[in-house]
Amino acid sequence: MKDLKHCRVLVTPTSFGKHDPRLRAELEAAVGEVIYNPTDQPLSSDEVRALLPGCHGYIAGLDVIDRAALEAADALKVIARYGVGVDRIDLEAARARGIVVTNTPSANAASVAELTIGLMIALARSIPTADAATKAGQWPRFTGVALEGKMVGLIGFGSIGQQTAQRLQGFDCRILTYDPAVAPEVARTHQVEWAPLEEVVAQADFLSLHLPLTPATRGMVNADFLARMKPGAFLINTARGELIDDDALVEALTSGRLRGAALDVFSREPPDPRHPLLKLPNVIVTPHAGAHTDAAMNAMGWGALRDCLAVLRGETPQHRVV
Ligand code: NAD
Repeated sequence: MKDLKHCRVLVTPTSFGKHDPRLRAELEAAVGEVIYNPTDQPLSSDEVRALLPGCHGYIAGLDVIDRAALEAADALKVIARYGVGVDRIDLEAARARGIVVTNTPSANAASVAELTIGLMIALARSIPTADAATKAGQWPRFTGVALEGKMVGLIGFGSIGQQTAQRLQGFDCRILTYDPAVAPEVARTHQVEWAPLEEVVAQADFLSLHLPLTPATRGMVNADFLARMKPGAFLINTARGELIDDDALVEALTSGRLRGAALDVFSREPPDPRHPLLKLPNVIVTPHAGAHTDAAMNAMGWGALRDCLAVLRGETPQHRVV
């Protein structure tokens, strides 16, 4: 096996190896030097740029890896994304520099699906508000919304959409999906009905986003989209914050058009604490935690490590994006 002792690898996900120390041990034994994220957050373009010189491999969290950052990549062979979304990487710039980009599809799908369902139920039953009120000595009588008999709409029916549908089967709800790359008969094998986007948007009591951020999907949940949603519906976003026009969402939530929203992701992370969405009582937020479970961290960690080392050894990685 090719000796990688001349290689330096940058690792930025702070959870890398948290649940399985063998991940860090295996990487450190394989290569000459490992640099870990000096902060406790995903890195900005400037921070990536400062750390990249001399690095051959890069196991990447949710850092901004734009063209300016990649200009400092003087030895880089591979960016192994610890996760699935590659929207924060300038893929064209990576391709132009001959840098292979890999990701870990499906590794976190079950965990994101579990959070999605947790958020649906938390919204439907006002769990955070009920918890805070009960702890404050009150005994409020909330009327919740049952999932039973309702329509759940999934926009995007890839790994996470499918895992969410599979887990919803026990809730006796109907499930509609829109995904341009999925045929209606494929959806049917998952006990899910395929429908055009307008229908899913108009019919869902719970509408959940499971599509990637691309130039075509950026801002797609705008005022027009929200106005076409069923009055009193809930919106759940565990995909990417930039899919939503925040001002339009604030308006839809304050006007009562939407009953509530649950957001795991934001256009700017962390969001400004004064962000109006954080002030609304009918909004539940989590800190981009969809993939933060023991199982997902291990699966993403081993997947990213395997493909990072494969490229450094001149072998074919399992999940190449570019
Ligand atoms: P995936 O690639 O398996 O599935 C995405 C699906 O979206 C594909 O089937 C694709 O055809 C579909 N799609 C693309 N454009 C669409 C459009 N305009 N309308 C409807 N569907 C469209 O990805 P996945 O693993 O299911 O992840 C989905 C997204 O979730 C990722 O791109 C990522 O941004 C996000 N994500 C978030 C977290 C988190 O921690 N909250 C973790 C993992 C992934």
